[in-house]
Amino acid sequence: MVTEKLQTYLNRCDERADLKAWTFVDAEGSMHAAAEADERVGTAMERPLEGLVVGVKDNISLVGMPLSCASNILKGFRPVYNATVVERLRDAGAIFLGKTNMDEFAMGSSNEHSVYGAARNPIDPDRVPGGSSGGSAVAVADGQCDVALGSDTGGSVRQPAAFCGVYGLKPTYGRVSRYGLVAFASSLDQIGIFSRTVSDMARTFDVIAAHDPMDATSHPDAAGTAMDALGKPLSTFRVGVLPDALLEGCDAEIREAYHQFVQALQQIGGTPVEIPLPNIETWIPTYFILATAEASSNLARFDGVRYGFRADEPDHDAPDDGYDMTTATRSAGFGSEVKRRIMLGTFVLSSGYKDAYYTKALQSRRLISEAYASVFEQVDVYAMPTTPTTAFKQGEITDPVQMWLSDLYTVSANIAGIPALSVPFGTDGKGLPIGMQLQGAMFEDERLLQVAQQLAT
Ligand code: GLN
Repeated sequence: MVTEKLQTYLNRCDERADLKAWTFVDAEGSMHAAAEADERVGTAMERPLEGLVVGVKDNISLVGMPLSCASNILKGFRPVYNATVVERLRDAGAIFLGKTNMDEFAMGSSNEHSVYGAARNPIDPDRVPGGSSGGSAVAVADGQCDVALGSDTGGSVRQPAAFCGVYGLKPTYGRVSRYGLVAFASSLDQIGIFSRTVSDMARTFDVIAAHDPMDATSHPDAAGTAMDALGKPLSTFRVGVLPDALLEGCDAEIREAYHQFVQALQQIGGTPVEIPLPNIETWIPTYFILATAEASSNLARFDGVRYGFRADEPDHDAPDDGYDMTTATRSAGFGSEVKRRIMLGTFVLSSGYKDAYYTKALQSRRLISEAYASVFEQVDVYAMPTTPTTAFKQGEITDPVQMWLSDLYTVSANIAGIPALSVPFGTDGKGLPIGMQLQGAMFEDERLLQVAQQLAT
């Protein structure tokens, strides 16, 4: 019974409210949808995702629920249209339990930057769940829903999936419509999926991967065929392996797990080929220049006029108080990390600095994409750790640059646009989950799921 399953999830949301996975729970609406699903299950009316209980990151539009991006600046905002992913999931029979917690505007790697308070890692609540889609990872890992949507601009699905011990997919750029996703860095953003099983991932992917004329970057051949791929035998494949020198930034236990991961891939028919990815030291600077430049432009729309929050006006009886509503709204509405990104992005685009930073980053992006293209002429998948460490403690990382370094192994897939999947792969000595990453050539998302499925059986 879908209603019974949903009730179990709702109870778990209550019991573990301390984990702060959700920014909004729609108990009534989801129960109503579950009752409808129960009438369809087992009949000719049953749809592909009938009764699948889904959490939606709070930067994706879902009519009837708030859309906050975990920011003060969107306080009280209610979206007036649904994201394409939401429409597609609903038409396929999915039930929306609520909106999940995140770092403000998807900027962060720990989910500590949320106006709702930090989400917590279910395995050890003193630790972060990762970010920015932390709430989605927590909800799936803790058994508060079946699957969840996140967004991945530089790792925000894969890194929290790794920290919480679930699967996290960033699809190929262009496969999943971003219509209705609040833009952070439009040339990097993709909507991704969290799940506990590969098959839930595959069936969700098949529903949301589709061409959408409402997103100009949506690819005409986007349609997902993952369930078909899972039904086919996996032939032998070549696996790109990072040389040890490029694992220097990793904890010893992650390095060890990586070697075991390569062995596990060998056992299911993978032939390892050691291929270095050049210029790994350029990945983080390239990402943070491009992402902040685009964010500074995308976030200009939050001006106090069009959406949500507007700062209180000062006393206008005082003559010439110099009040500027937009400045006051943005100063009070955005949190510190978002402001840091807007200022950095404005700087790298400003005249006199643009060529040195933004244009250089675009050139560097080209080199990274070309390096991957040549790698995928030699191998079918590339294996990498998802993160250099396991989940760190809440409050442990205060230096923003150190926080940014935790994205070392995830940003390159966004820069190149390729698909990447984080696979749960055991735990460290403290019992914290480790995630390993499979990357593939453009549009080879299905192959990653096939390999992950084989690893799990
Ligand atoms: N952690 C990265 C950042 O802070 C990635 C964010 C994301 O993918 N949305 O920008």
